[in-house]
Parts: sequence; C-alpha cells; structure tokens
Amino acid sequence: MKIPKTFHFSYTGSIAKLLIIACVFTANLVSAQTVIEKIVQEETKNSQLQVLAHELLDGIGPRLVGTPQMKKANEWAVEKYTNWGIAARNEQWGEWKGWERGITHIDMLSPRVKSLEGTQLSWSPSTKGKAIKAEIIIIPDVADSLAFVNWLPNVKGKFVMISMNQPTGRPDDNWLQFATKESFDKLKKERTEMTDAWRKRLSKTGHSSRMLPIILEKAGALGVLTNNWSNGFGVDKIFNAYTTKIPTVDIALEDYGTLYRLVESGDNPIISIQTDSKDLGTVPSFNTIAEIKGTEKPDEYVMLSAHFDSWDAGQGATDNGTGTLTMMEAMRILKLVYPNPKRTILVGHWGSEEQGLNGSRAFVEDHPEVVSKLQALFNQDNGTGRIVNISGQGFKYAGDFITRWLAAVPSSMKDSIKTTFPGTPGGGGSDYASFVAVGAPGFSLGALNWSYFNYTWHTNRDTYDKIIFDDLKNNAMLTAMLVYMACEDNATFPRDKVDLGTNKVTGQPIQWPTQVKAMRKGPLAPTN
Ligand SMILES: [Zn+2]
Repeated sequence: MKIPKTFHFSYTGSIAKLLIIACVFTANLVSAQTVIEKIVQEETKNSQLQVLAHELLDGIGPRLVGTPQMKKANEWAVEKYTNWGIAARNEQWGEWKGWERGITHIDMLSPRVKSLEGTQLSWSPSTKGKAIKAEIIIIPDVADSLAFVNWLPNVKGKFVMISMNQPTGRPDDNWLQFATKESFDKLKKERTEMTDAWRKRLSKTGHSSRMLPIILEKAGALGVLTNNWSNGFGVDKIFNAYTTKIPTVDIALEDYGTLYRLVESGDNPIISIQTDSKDLGTVPSFNTIAEIKGTEKPDEYVMLSAHFDSWDAGQGATDNGTGTLTMMEAMRILKLVYPNPKRTILVGHWGSEEQGLNGSRAFVEDHPEVVSKLQALFNQDNGTGRIVNISGQGFKYAGDFITRWLAAVPSSMKDSIKTTFPGTPGGGGSDYASFVAVGAPGFSLGALNWSYFNYTWHTNRDTYDKIIFDDLKNNAMLTAMLVYMACEDNATFPRDKVDLGTNKVTGQPIQWPTQVKAMRKGPLAPTN
C-alpha cells in the first residue's frame, strides 16, 4: 500500500502517526471505492454474460465428463481467457469413459403410433445403428429373489420397465393451489404407499437398483425403460446408465404412464428404440485454470471456483453453467479494473464434480503450493439466483474477514445476504468442500433457489431460458468485489477451526470433514 504523494509529514509523534494511519486508511477506502465503482460500471455497461451463455450452452451444450463437448468447453474457456489477456491452461487430472450422445428415437408403434418423449441415459450403449422393436414387460412383484430368478427368462427379447408409474404428473404446489384438502391428502398417502411398495418390489429381486439393469441385460432383455420424475411439469432427472450392451432410456412421465397402463391392461404396446451414441474408449479429463499473477504476494492465492462439467440431458445451464459464467465474468472484469492484484487470482473450472468433486479433489492433491497459501476460495454451484447465503465454514475468524470483505460491497447487493459465522464445515455438495476438508478456506456463495431442485438440477429442462441474467450480473459483481477485497487484505486468513461440539445422538466429538481421494478414472462399475 502506498501513501499518497501529496501528504508530507516533517515531524514525528503520536498525532502524526494517527494522521498517517487516518490518511492511509482514507486513501485505501478511496481506491477501494474506485475499484468497486469500476466493477459495477463494467458489468452494467458491458456485461458479456448473455454472449458467453449462448456460446457455451447453445453452441457447445452440456458437459458430461468424457464427452467431446466437455473437451470443447475446456478449449473454449482457454480461448476466452486468452482473448481477455488472462493466462489460462487445461490441466489433466484423470481419464474417463469417452462417450458422445447421438440421435435418439423412441416411438410407440402399437396399439397406435406416437413418438415418445425420452432420453438415453448418460453413457448408455447404442443400438448399433438399428431401431429395435419389441414388447414391454414390467418388473413384477415377486415373493423373493428365488421367484425372481424363475421369472427372469421372461425378459428375453423385451424392453423392461423398472420404475414406478407416478400417480400424478402435477407438482405438489399445483395440487396445493387447486385440490380439496381431502383430495391432496389422499394423493400423498397413495403416493407414499406406492413408493414404499415399489421399493420393496425392487428389493425382493435380490439386486440393488444399480445391478438390476445389468442382471436384465444378462438375461436377454433388449433395453431398460426408466422414469426419474423430478416433481415438476415435464421434468425428469437424467443420470448414468448401468447397462453395458443394451440401451437404458428415461421416458417422460406422461409417456411412461401411457405405456405402463397399456401393459397392465393387456393392450401389449410395441415400441421401437434407436439410440446412436458413440463409445469413444478412454479419454483424458481436464480442469481449466486461469490466472492473474499477484504483484506483492504472488505466492498467495485468492480463488474463484465453479464446476464446469454437467449432466447432459439439458444444457447444464444452472448446474453449473451459471456458476461457470459468474466466475468467467468476474475474472474478465477483474483483469480490466484490477490488473495488478496484490495476491495471485486463480480460477478453477472443475471437471467431474457430478461424479464426486473429482477435478477439485485432484487439484487439492496436485497443488499443495496453492492450497497451503490460499487466502480464500469462493465457489458457486446452486443455480441461477442471487447470492444470499455465506457461511464461515467453521473457520474461527471467518466472520472478521468476510465481514471486512463485504464492507466494500454496495448495500443493494449486500443487504439480502445472510451470513453465518463461524458456521460449520461443509463435507460435500460442491467443490469448496474439497478445500475445506484439508483446512483451507473454501466458501460457498449460496444462491436463491428459483425451483432449482425440481426443475433444473440434473434435469432435461436445465437450459438457457432458465437463467436469470439480472441475478447473474449481481453475482459476477459480488464475486469480483469479494476477490478484490480478499486480495487486498493486509492480514492472512488464519486457519484456526472452531470447536464443533459433540454429536447429540452419539455423544462423540464432531469431527472436521476428512479429505477424500479424487477418482482419477471412471465411471466405476457397480459391484452390488
Ligand atoms: Zn453442480
């Protein structure tokens, strides 16, 4: 920090010292105010968020680990940073099954013709260029695993439905708005009973829900049909397939229900499935890292953090396109308004968060020089909303530091943020936890949820149109301000932890989360 040249003190003494401190403090506040104003100006007048969102989400699309789209996104980000004059690189952290989604057709041919809404699960095998036509069978309610073994030959040459048929495709808030209380209560009771009965039905097969598709495949089934409804109109969660030879597809609730009822009523529906995905062997997986070198303390780090990968039925727009764009935009602005930071600014765009924080856990293992000198890391990963929650993650002095950093933030952005200090350490959920686990100050910027869990999180509807750009602008500015303040802080963030107390049930002391090793090669095949 420099003393402004206009101030000259020709004498010493306590008053002079006080004056110097006052002047320095004022100068500091003035320059902080200037940087904060410039951040607001740049984002307000020249936001790149919509352009970036369009290029990433519409152009490249979802970013499942192991897909060419993930690789393309890594390369796109490096190119963007390079164009902004920020040094960037892709660091390999592991390797994954290479796979690329292709065209999927799912059609009902009998008793009437209708193209069905469905999605091939991630990494599901293809149908090898053919459309497969077959009847459907529903997993039965057998007495026990022996009865299941006896029934199993029935799946040969058929598609097998393994999900419950939901009693309603309307979300609960819709029932709450229009149903009589009796009617809604009846539905909830019925649904709870059905869900419980279905869980028992599956467990009586003697196989886990992961192994069951593999058992069906071995018994000669032609494909597995699932429905993973996400409790909202038209929305399903789409995860990975476990089959290795036959396709697994999720069929939307409306069409799944139609097929299920037709099978049950003996109408014997026939459907045709063609999935054209490509198996690409094993491919390397990367984190994208970009850096603005520090001037005074270049070996100390302030990090921006958001996972770059996604599930792949939608566009990974709010999970975690929005976190990604927030961090990219904050970096772009910082490079313009704060090009010579006191500490080094790093951003981590992590790979394979969705399969267990793998990219960030690998970074923690591979970069002790960064982790040991980390001043703060800010991660965002719960949707498109305004940031409204920050916890101190169990660090004893987090309150002092974060309060000081937030002091520079305009009250219009800051007033709705609820802080919890010292808070408790997050054990998972997103990449900040990889850092917290080794005692490094990783913080989560918690957003308003905008129906995240039902409508966009891991769903086929996680698309560009769900982004709230005004909230994203707020978040990019807030992140840039926090990073700036953390960089400038004269004090180093102390890693003292709070006493977490004792577990009320066990009476044992609550332990700090422990470090988990990154899975460097995937996906793992289920073993039971
Ligand atoms: Zn996420």
